[in-house]
Amino acid sequence: MSINKDFRTIAAANGIADDIAYGAVTPPLYLSSNFAFRQFEQAQAYEYSRTSNPTRDLLADTLAKLEGGAGTVVTSSGMAAVNLVLGLLKPGDRVIAPHDCYGGTYRLLAALQDKGHFDVEFVDQGNQEALVSALSRGATLVFVETPSNPLMRIVDINVIAQRTKAVQARLVVDNTFLSPALQRPITLGADFVIHSTTKYLNGHSDVVGGAVVAANSNDVEELKAWANMIGVTGSPFDAYLTLRGIRSLFARIERQQTTAMVAARFLSQHPRVGVVHYPGLISDPGHELAARQQSGFGAMLSFELKGGLEAVRSFVAGLRIFTLAESLGGVESLVAHPASMTHAGMGAEARHAAGIKEGLLRVSVGLEAEEDLLSDLAFSLANIE
Ligand SMILES: *Cc1c(COP(=O)(O)O)cnc(C)c1O
Repeated sequence: MSINKDFRTIAAANGIADDIAYGAVTPPLYLSSNFAFRQFEQAQAYEYSRTSNPTRDLLADTLAKLEGGAGTVVTSSGMAAVNLVLGLLKPGDRVIAPHDCYGGTYRLLAALQDKGHFDVEFVDQGNQEALVSALSRGATLVFVETPSNPLMRIVDINVIAQRTKAVQARLVVDNTFLSPALQRPITLGADFVIHSTTKYLNGHSDVVGGAVVAANSNDVEELKAWANMIGVTGSPFDAYLTLRGIRSLFARIERQQTTAMVAARFLSQHPRVGVVHYPGLISDPGHELAARQQSGFGAMLSFELKGGLEAVRSFVAGLRIFTLAESLGGVESLVAHPASMTHAGMGAEARHAAGIKEGLLRVSVGLEAEEDLLSDLAFSLANIE
C-alpha cells in the first residue's frame, strides 16, 4: 500500500532500496545507451537512452512528485528546458515574459522572435495594468520567474495563473531560484514548471542540467516526444548526480536561507550598501506576497553598492570566501555582477529598463559558517575606496 509521503521524504528516499537485481539501497546508475530486446519484436521496458533511461526516469519521477506534476522531462540544461517548452509554439503565437527574466531566457526569446518562431512582449509583471494590457493583445504562453533574477521581485503566481487561463493561454514558471522545497507553482495554477537543475536541485555545482515538469499528462507526452525528436534529454550520469543532490535539498536550502536572512540584515544596515533585495526583509516590497506564496525566503539576494562600478571592483577584490562566479544554488557562496556577467547579453538599455544597475551584486549563500561569510562581507565592504 502506498502512503502519503512528506516532500522531505520523497527528496531523501524516492527510489531507495527498490533495486530488484541486488537490493542495492542507492538506485543504480544505468549508463547504457541501449537495451537488449527480449526477442524479435519484443522490446523490454527500455530501448534507447535518448528516449528513456531508468536513472533519468527516477530523477524525472522524483521531480514530478516534488512539484506535484503529472510527469517530467529531464533535459541537458536549464536552457534546453526553456527551449523545449518554447518549441510547442508556432509562428503567430505570443509569449509574454518578464522584462527582468534570466539573461539566457531573455536572449533566447528575443533570438527566436527574430527568426519568426513567435512574438514576444516583455512586461513588468509586477505591474498588473501592464500585464492585463499585454494579455489583452493576445497570449499563447505566459512566462513567469519569481523571485526574479537578479532583483528578487515577487509576482503572484495564482493571480497570473487566473489571468492566463482567462485568455486560454498556458503558464510556465521558472522555479529555479527556490526549488520545490520552497515553492510549488503547479499547486498555484501553473501548467509547466521549468528548472535549471544546475542550481539548487543538484546543488553542488558539478552538473549542468534542466527539467520541465508538466501539470497534465498530455503535455508530458508531447514534451517527451519533442525531447526525443530533438535529442535534448539529459545524460544518465548527470541524472544520477542530480538525484544525489536532491537527497539533501531540504537540509541545504533551509540552512542556506537562515544564513541568507542574517546576511541580508547585515547588508541592509551597512553604510556602504544601498538597497538590499531580499524578500525575507520586512521592508522588502515582495515580503508579504513571498511569505504567503513561498514556504521560505530562499538563499538568493542582491544589493547595490554605493559608488557603482568602482566600488564593485574593490569589493570583489576583497572577497576571500565568496567566489566571483556565475551560477547559484551550490554549497559554496558566490557573488555575481549581473551587469558584466549574467545579464551582459541583455544590453544596457534593457538592463536599465529592468532596473539592473552597475553597482548591483547578486549573492548566492552557501553552507559555509555564517560568521565566516559575514566577516568576508564586512572585510570586503571595508576594502572599498
Ligand atoms: C541558470 C538559469 C537558467 C538556465 O539554466 P542552465 O542550466 O544554465 O542552462 C534558467 N533560469 C534561471 C532562473 C537560471 O538561474
